[in-house]
Amino acid sequence: MSTEEGSKPTNFIRHMIDEDLANNKNNGRVATRFPPEPNGYLHIGHAKSIALNFGIARDYQGTCNLRFDDTNPHKENIDFVEAIQNDVRWLGFDWDDRLYYASDYFEKLYDFALELIQAGKAYVCDLDAEQTREYRGTLKQAGKNSPSRDRSVDENLDLFQRMRAGEFKDGERVLRAKIDMASPNMNMRDPTLYRIRHGVVHHQTGAEWCLYPMYDFTHPISDALEGITHSICTLEFEDHRPLYDWMLDNISIDCHPQQIEFSRLNLQYTVMSKRKLTELVDEGLVEGWDDPRMPTIAGLRRRGYTAASIRAFCDRIGVTRADNSVEMAMLESAIRDDLNVNAPRRMAVLHPLKVVIENYPEGQTEELDVDNHPQNEAMGQRKIPFGREIYIDRDDFKESANKKFKRLVTGGEVRLRNAYVMRCDEVIKDEQGEIIELRCSYDADTLGANPEGRKVKGVIHWVSVAHAIEAEVRLYDRLFSHPTPDDAKDGVDYKTRLNPESLHTLSYCYLEPALADASVDDHFQFEREGYFCLDRTKVGDKPVFNRTVTLRDSWAKIEGQGD
Ligand code: ATP
Ligand code: MG
Repeated sequence: MSTEEGSKPTNFIRHMIDEDLANNKNNGRVATRFPPEPNGYLHIGHAKSIALNFGIARDYQGTCNLRFDDTNPHKENIDFVEAIQNDVRWLGFDWDDRLYYASDYFEKLYDFALELIQAGKAYVCDLDAEQTREYRGTLKQAGKNSPSRDRSVDENLDLFQRMRAGEFKDGERVLRAKIDMASPNMNMRDPTLYRIRHGVVHHQTGAEWCLYPMYDFTHPISDALEGITHSICTLEFEDHRPLYDWMLDNISIDCHPQQIEFSRLNLQYTVMSKRKLTELVDEGLVEGWDDPRMPTIAGLRRRGYTAASIRAFCDRIGVTRADNSVEMAMLESAIRDDLNVNAPRRMAVLHPLKVVIENYPEGQTEELDVDNHPQNEAMGQRKIPFGREIYIDRDDFKESANKKFKRLVTGGEVRLRNAYVMRCDEVIKDEQGEIIELRCSYDADTLGANPEGRKVKGVIHWVSVAHAIEAEVRLYDRLFSHPTPDDAKDGVDYKTRLNPESLHTLSYCYLEPALADASVDDHFQFEREGYFCLDRTKVGDKPVFNRTVTLRDSWAKIEGQGD
């Protein structure tokens, strides 16, 4: 079911395409599309659909169009249109010159509506919203025909043209397909094709239209106009498939794409509905669409996820028709696998404790040559300054501890990563008894290796005080503290399940000087701490680094940090 990049994924949709190709259906053509509604940023669920649609086009020498499904101008805007294009490109996919908008087809769609009216297959309905609901019936009970249903073709044509001309108010009249009010499939009970919306300025068509087509009318026709062969969508559209087919069977268009449904991606500890993500943004519960805790592509990117890791994740989860909720650990292991191989190593002290190495000459600095990656020589080396004063992490020191603690204790020795063995001689405390400094001594003969017969088990990281870059570091955790925050069954408001500990800010961290050259698209392993990236913002002059992910899955209760 799943594969890594480089080999082709297999799934039931690809099997269907293989069969179509074997039968020379569509003359061997494969054309897909990704059809986002520009009413929010893309999220990791969309990435699954993007990877599927663009991936099929890539592997079958086909095409994948980017088409904005922009029939609901109330909630849409041009910022979303741009953000979506950026995100698809960033994910590594390309629509070449095939960028389309459903609104490109408004005139053609209107003509198809006229065609349906002329054929007696659509009518203008005068029922208001509440009456329409009443007439629609229920799952157990057939609907009733609207009193408008038997209007003459001429009257329908006249009314529909007047709807377009702006003669009627919002909600006063709609255009409906004439199918079957007794159909067991509610979608087939004379669905609405057009509604009136005055006073909205559409991001593409401006104020030209006051008549907007519905998704179920627009989508199949847009697909057919673009010559799509496989129209892939999520499972909630399964019951709409008969309507998709009805549309194309009842208008004069000679292309009939096949709608194929797959199950949406749900990811634990987050929400994926655009309505809810919009609420989080609008109510200031997160910093914005690219808040690093958001499951949006922009948020994941800012958090430090790579496009390759997201593509690998999408391949690993596979494509099926089964409802599922994927563990966050799957996403995190995809980014760890990428960064473990590709992120250069750096040293950064997140909870600084100052150390004075008393037998190291004052004013002296050494430049140590250090590998950027322990397994990959091609990543080269960098210089790290070492001096008399260094910072180590508070957690790497205890005044006294049992043998399990392999780091620094009073009177004990530890190896400073990439440098010397150091012993702690004295602990300095403030008036409250808090440790504020360590006095230590180093062994000049231990650079790079332990002398014969001497066992120093612990290795800790450090940064030279004189050369350190001060930075803010942001540690992120799950956005929600519940695995399925918007589980409809228990009726609890998902917002009450936001994790109050999802952001932990460390304002005074010290980084090795090589990190001064970091740019926003770089990724680093801070040794023993996790994977990090530079944020696009600063706090005053201070750079900000985001923790992408810990080194190991601490949620699985595996010890997080090596000793
Ligand atoms: P929402 O219901 O939250 O508004 P949507 O499905 O309406 O989301 P669209 O912009 O219409 O969002 O989605 C564009 C495409 O992405 C659609 O083909 C849709 O099926 C697919 N998609 C959206 N969410 C997911 C998901 N969680 N997993 C897989 N595909 C998804
Ligand atoms: Mg949609």
